[in-house]
Amino acid sequence: MALKTGKEYLQSVRDLGLEAHMLGEKRGDLDQHGLVKPSQQAVAFTYDAAHQPEIQGLFRVESPLCKQEVNRFTHLHQSSEDLVNKVRMQRYCGAGTACCFQRCVGMDAANAIFSTTYECDRKHGTDYHGRFRDYWSWIQMNDLVVDGAMTDPKGDRGKRPKDQVDPDLFLRVKARRPGGVVISGAKLHQTGMLNSHEMLVMPTLTMRPGEEAWAVCCAVPTNDPGVRYIYGRQTSDTRKLEARNLDVGNVTFGGQEVMTVFEDVFVPNERVFLDGEVDFSGVLVERFASYHRQSYGGCKVGVGDALIGATALMARMNGVEGASHIKDKIVEMIHLNETIYACGLACSATGQATPSGNFLVNLLLANVCKLNVTRFPYELARLATEIAGGLLGTMPSAADLDDPVAGPYIRKYLQANPSFDVVDRMKVMRLIENLVAGAGSVGYLIESMHGAGPPTAQRIMIGRQADLESKIVRVKNMLEIS
Ligand code: SF4
Ligand code: FE
Repeated sequence: MALKTGKEYLQSVRDLGLEAHMLGEKRGDLDQHGLVKPSQQAVAFTYDAAHQPEIQGLFRVESPLCKQEVNRFTHLHQSSEDLVNKVRMQRYCGAGTACCFQRCVGMDAANAIFSTTYECDRKHGTDYHGRFRDYWSWIQMNDLVVDGAMTDPKGDRGKRPKDQVDPDLFLRVKARRPGGVVISGAKLHQTGMLNSHEMLVMPTLTMRPGEEAWAVCCAVPTNDPGVRYIYGRQTSDTRKLEARNLDVGNVTFGGQEVMTVFEDVFVPNERVFLDGEVDFSGVLVERFASYHRQSYGGCKVGVGDALIGATALMARMNGVEGASHIKDKIVEMIHLNETIYACGLACSATGQATPSGNFLVNLLLANVCKLNVTRFPYELARLATEIAGGLLGTMPSAADLDDPVAGPYIRKYLQANPSFDVVDRMKVMRLIENLVAGAGSVGYLIESMHGAGPPTAQRIMIGRQADLESKIVRVKNMLEIS
């Protein structure tokens, strides 16, 4: 099948007939809903890019799995160059949408599951890898969006999955039926779930002996009748429902987060890729997390590009772009953003082949990348807030522009550099607001902190991967300390 266009993708998601609880009501017409539409358009961007002559080379890649040209968002990385191109592609999408475009989670899950199932089969004699190859080949050929469902609700953080008051607080195999398993539980923070055709369910942490029921990885169609969705709120989200949408900031694109509940969902065996092999649950978690930490070295940099562009334009609109302290702050923003990108490229360029053949990022550098992402976007946002000025928090609404009394006052008193239109200045101000304090800040800031795991998770991995002992030994040898 040919690579889908954005339009074809939107139709294919519509055809799934998904329903969700949103703002107090159950809605089925998701593609018509003001909160959902921008998030679908952001995913559609990843499809359209594969058809644009100037960039399609980055998005199209020959898959050795299905032997066809596929969208890189479904690709299993075959080289460190593939890993680098993934990050370049994500930066392009982040800069073009100024939001989370939601399609990376499934790509990262697939690459983690591909190598983990291969190694699990070799150790335990299971047949997960072959099943996954067949499944993913079908995904590639149909150019589908797959969400990665990892984060369990976790309940009492001081207790293991089996010791929770409710065993569903970690998604589990609740029962077995001929030909498959029945899963029960929930996954929180599901980026782009309602814009996906499929989801890959994975354990949220390393399971121990006795926790086999929670060591499950499988694929579920998003329109399975046992799956329920509750839409996540974002700051200022209802501005998207207003008639004059200038106040939204990013009118065209946006992110999406969903709570997903699994009410006794039957999963046939051919869609099960881990079922009780606790010793591979941690491997899967670690690899998925590291791929997604690499991803942030692309997507957040792209959104950073949009924020830097908007901030520099605002400085120009305010008539201060020549001031040395402004120039210095813009350079600081660029420096921070490119530092994240450098980490994203570095963990990709030094990636290694796994025994299954696909490539895994450098785990240490991917975690360094993500740890920087938990900090630098906040500093970029702080600098953008400073440069934009206090109007960022006090600007009248777009609706007042139409008022015969208020409108002229707004146009008179919000003018700055006469080369620019007042309403254009308001648009740029709202985009900056969107990214530093509005709906876009969920993707740019909160997700930078917690997406792919919070900073402590990266610190643990950095501590594990750094081989501190060899550094100590080298110093001891240099100083002739026995
Ligand atoms: Fe992709 Fe970034 Fe969104 Fe994750 S946060 S899905 S890496 S755009
Ligand atoms: Fe994310």
